[in-house]
Amino acid sequence: MENNMSMVFDAKSENEGLARMVISAFITELDPTIEELNDVKTAVSEAVTNSIIHGYNGTEGKVYMDCSLDMEENENHGTLKITVKDQGVGIENVEKAKEPLFTTKPELERSGMGFMFMEMFMDELIVESEKGRGTKVSMTKRLTKQEKIW
Ligand code: ATP
Ligand code: MG
Repeated sequence: MENNMSMVFDAKSENEGLARMVISAFITELDPTIEELNDVKTAVSEAVTNSIIHGYNGTEGKVYMDCSLDMEENENHGTLKITVKDQGVGIENVEKAKEPLFTTKPELERSGMGFMFMEMFMDELIVESEKGRGTKVSMTKRLTKQEKIW
């Protein structure tokens, strides 16, 4: 059984919390572990923050989040796929951007750890970007389906 959800929101920092709440609610039916839930929320926060502060850099724009949850019957896990997209400035060199501690905004006290967290907390991370066109971050994670005891 698959369930899909898409949302579009303005590139404003107050919407980071909204994206975190929506993804949490979306995976609730699976009843994943607290640790998995925190991993997913952190990864979403990092991707959405990047679109807002780097992609649009204070200019107006939309952030797109598409999610799908695939739950096999009689299996003790499900697969979550999330894409976070923007139509912002894009990334010139994706490989370089993904390196730990690489940041183009050191003055804003950015530490250059966002992509590293996404990589650590999710099972798969794919970053596609084109200078001047935008960025698409695709993440996949296998989540535990906790057994109902009632
Ligand atoms: P931190 O996430 O630790 O606060 P950071 O955002 O600089 O710092 P990463 O999230 O790893 O670190 O991103 C690395 C770099 O990749 C950013 O500094 C920025 O140059 C670029 N980048 C990431 N996401 C985007 C995006 N959506 N649009 C444009 N550039 C991006
Ligand atoms: Mg970041």
